[in-house]
Amino acid sequence: MKTIDHWIDGKPTAGAAQRVGPVYDPATGRQQAEVALADSSDVDDAVRAGSDAFASWSQTSLSKRTAILFAFRELVRAHTDDLARLITAEHGKVLADARGEVQRGLEVVEFACGIPQLLKGEFSDQVSSGIDSFSFRQPLGVVAGITPFNFPVMVPMWMNPVAIACGNTFVLKPSERDPSASVLLAELWAEAGLPDGVFNVVHGDKVAVDALLDHPDVAAVSFVGSTPIARYVYERGTSMGKRVQALGGAKNHAVVLPDTDMGFAADHLTAAAFGSAGQRCMAISAAVAVGDAAERLIEALRAKASTVQVGPGVEPTSEMGPVITQTAKDRIIGSVTSAEGQGATLVVDGRTVEGDGLQEGYFVGPTVLDHVTPEMDVYRDEVFGPVLVVLRAETLDDAIALINANPYGNGTSIFTNSGQAARRFQREVTVGMIGVNVPIPVPMAYYSFGGWKDSLFGDTHVHGPEGVRFYTQAKVVTSRWPQLESGNAASYSFPTSS
Ligand code: NAD
Repeated sequence: MKTIDHWIDGKPTAGAAQRVGPVYDPATGRQQAEVALADSSDVDDAVRAGSDAFASWSQTSLSKRTAILFAFRELVRAHTDDLARLITAEHGKVLADARGEVQRGLEVVEFACGIPQLLKGEFSDQVSSGIDSFSFRQPLGVVAGITPFNFPVMVPMWMNPVAIACGNTFVLKPSERDPSASVLLAELWAEAGLPDGVFNVVHGDKVAVDALLDHPDVAAVSFVGSTPIARYVYERGTSMGKRVQALGGAKNHAVVLPDTDMGFAADHLTAAAFGSAGQRCMAISAAVAVGDAAERLIEALRAKASTVQVGPGVEPTSEMGPVITQTAKDRIIGSVTSAEGQGATLVVDGRTVEGDGLQEGYFVGPTVLDHVTPEMDVYRDEVFGPVLVVLRAETLDDAIALINANPYGNGTSIFTNSGQAARRFQREVTVGMIGVNVPIPVPMAYYSFGGWKDSLFGDTHVHGPEGVRFYTQAKVVTSRWPQLESGNAASYSFPTSS
């Protein structure tokens, strides 16, 4: 059985811990590898490698850092298919989707290639007689990234290119369910010329996460995952004096107004609900049909959802692969059954999937539930599977109130032909990322990504300008080069400009 090692100080290592975890192929249900699970001494090794490397990496010139980022960008591009194959093998998503994930990660590298421009400070000449003032930003030290299973390349790349470009060193703790892509990323960083110790990978579970949160030499933690763990990571990390940004789960609503083209809306909603088997933090999981949109929307969704091709991610004909584990499959099917018991109407039932060889894998078909109400568990929980629930609202105001009452605030979208309705919606919803006739409004790399409410703990979103701020701290210098012979008498009063 293949073992997936950590990557510490520029080389693979099994680490000191004797623990391993299974890595499955979700399309077949078979174990395909085992992954080393770090203990605190392995984490300590990785952090020490990062601390040692920080001394010189933080002093490396912007042009040298940029050259490495450009080289890394070329290597990731050249290895897109290799990364995509690793993602599909361990996560299960279809290859085209996996390639798209790599592309979105690559865009963050491209953003980070502009680091000399992004790190420019401010300068004020002659703030007082003979005195200038200026600001600049410096890296924090060793920073950690703790990432979820659903984007094993893109989410780590939301973090590490920006952190490293800013002059930090990085310890990544990827999901133990699909760990291989992180190791290939580490190899590509090394090939790009990144010095040993600047990018490290420790695999593991709660033991490794806690060791990172408690480690005195980890300055900051970026976390992406479910809300309960995000809250925990935020509270424990900040109580240890660290800077923490922790992105959590989601319940993303799409409001459908009666004036929209229902074919267009249904087409985009099914892709947004069932792409990656609904395992995206920006997946649409709740459609809110306003006024008399409901019946037309349901019929259009029924037609679209019934045609989605479910199968192994490596098959070119598959549009939707399996979910991540048997536990996830059972949980998703249980949510659908409980919704039916609580009064929802099944429009499309994906609890059983027909097809050769699909029974052993973790496949769940596209499912659409109508007449769902906010009290039902299927609405209250983040199902994180291919389940789209339809709620009904009488007016746009009611739809906005429903969204704003939901504890999550990651993404949302509106389908309409009315600019006025769209503008009201974008101004009034308490959600971080909003789409207008765009179902999955993931910001481009040069903006920042993040939700509101229980979808984000901390003050800064990831990547983009907020990522640069998160991974650096500011200094402001007030400087004078006196001509001593001309007299510069000190004053005992608080200094003011003169
Ligand atoms: P998860 O919370 O189970 O795991 C995330 C990370 O935390 C993993 O590295 C895991 O090893 C670690 N972890 C798990 N349990 C832990 C514990 N008890 N203590 C310490 N660490 C622990 O999430 P997941 O199932 O891997 O990913 C899916 C979740 O991530 C969904 O809720 C999804 O909405 C969310 N997500 C959010 C975003 C976003 O941008 N807001 C993006 C992607 C995924």
